[in-house]
Amino acid sequence: MASSNPVAEAPNIWAVAQAQFDNAAEHLALDPGLRRVLRVPKRELTVNFPVTMDDGHVEVFTGYRVQHNLSRGPAKGGIRYHQDVTLDEVRALAMWMTWKCSVVNIPYGGGKGGVIVDPKKLSQRELEGLTRRFATEISPLIGPDRDIPAPDVNTNAQTMAWIMDTFSMHHGYTIHGVVTGKPVAVGGSLGRNEATARGAVFTLRQAGTALNLPLAGARVAIEGYGNAGSIAADLLAAEGSTIIAVSDSTGGIFNTKGLDPARVSGWKREHGTVVGFPGADQLSNEELLELDCEILVPAALENQITDHNAPRIQARIVAEAANGPTTPEADQILFDRGIFVIPDILCNAGGVTVSYFEWVQDMQSFFWTEARINESLREIMDHAFESVYAMSQRHSVHMRTAAYMVAVARVAEATNLRGLYP
Ligand code: NAD
Repeated sequence: MASSNPVAEAPNIWAVAQAQFDNAAEHLALDPGLRRVLRVPKRELTVNFPVTMDDGHVEVFTGYRVQHNLSRGPAKGGIRYHQDVTLDEVRALAMWMTWKCSVVNIPYGGGKGGVIVDPKKLSQRELEGLTRRFATEISPLIGPDRDIPAPDVNTNAQTMAWIMDTFSMHHGYTIHGVVTGKPVAVGGSLGRNEATARGAVFTLRQAGTALNLPLAGARVAIEGYGNAGSIAADLLAAEGSTIIAVSDSTGGIFNTKGLDPARVSGWKREHGTVVGFPGADQLSNEELLELDCEILVPAALENQITDHNAPRIQARIVAEAANGPTTPEADQILFDRGIFVIPDILCNAGGVTVSYFEWVQDMQSFFWTEARINESLREIMDHAFESVYAMSQRHSVHMRTAAYMVAVARVAEATNLRGLYP
């Protein structure tokens, strides 16, 4: 069952993001000048910054903040800490944020940040130092009306609290709205932690209705057991789905009778990995992707489903909780094989949507109940799914192209209406 590692032959995801845009632009017959504007980031900042490590030596780290497009509002997008971060990756993620905010129709452009670091090798104090200095270095770009970061891979609510505090210290007063995904005690929103997974499950419900595949009883495999993956497991189990396999960067576990997500999370908290969970067989990430199941949720990193393994994917629905898990070649293979893909910019847009609610609450200093947040999220996700699904049916295109067409058309309209300055 083992296959070659798809990541090893992974294409450059910036090239992938641009190819996806070109495809949508072609379908929309977009004006060539507008295409030139939208296919590159507006602004890119690279910073090399020092951090004093616990043993007293100074290390220099490299980080990026990229703003892709600001036509519909301030830039919005996460900050990633990972040893494999590249400027091209950050560009792609920033462009995807523009489309993601547009597909759910919230008033933001797209941005993204990243630092080249393996955070697991840093102490908590070193991570705080790195975060505060990185926040300082990118502070010419960020702000509640300009660019609002959020958590991404290996960053969390604590990271956002440090960034908010650093930015506030520079200004001399508390500025909650500079980041989202903060702890609730410092201006965060109820429901934000679960929002990405909850939004993905709302889109899965809609897809289930469209395909006549009820979530109750569906067998689910989830790649990546972090924020998005583990909470998706919880929520899908609550819908009556059977979670047959989950994985993290160390490997995967499998039980056809179903895994209890709460117990798996407890095991991971205690042992730092899902591997070794009692009563489950072990399997590789490559094997997990090809399991016999109804729903596959990639919730780890990009380029996981490629032309190598797409012919062997058995799921009926691929719900992209992760950003960019499927290459364009794989997309076509899945489409030809009748596998329904809920594309990342739609599927995982719940995170940025509740980030938007958090920002609105921060700006108004008026905080909503969790019930209101979840209901408002459902309305936005349902509406976004319906727009994209209708577009895919109308133009006989797969869901990713349809999502891009909905998103790019809105950004193009805003850009056109604003006109070119000067
Ligand atoms: P996270 O750091 O909380 O979790 C990532 C998980 O993936 C971890 O369990 C890690 O061990 C696992 N992983 C890493 N490499 C892997 C590999 N090769 N195979 C299998 N598992 C691997 O991150 P997250 O916030 O859950 O983000 C996951 C994905 O979801 C990313 O693509 C991110 O961009 C996307 N996303 C997250 C949010 C959010 O709000 N958290 C919003 C939108 C999109």
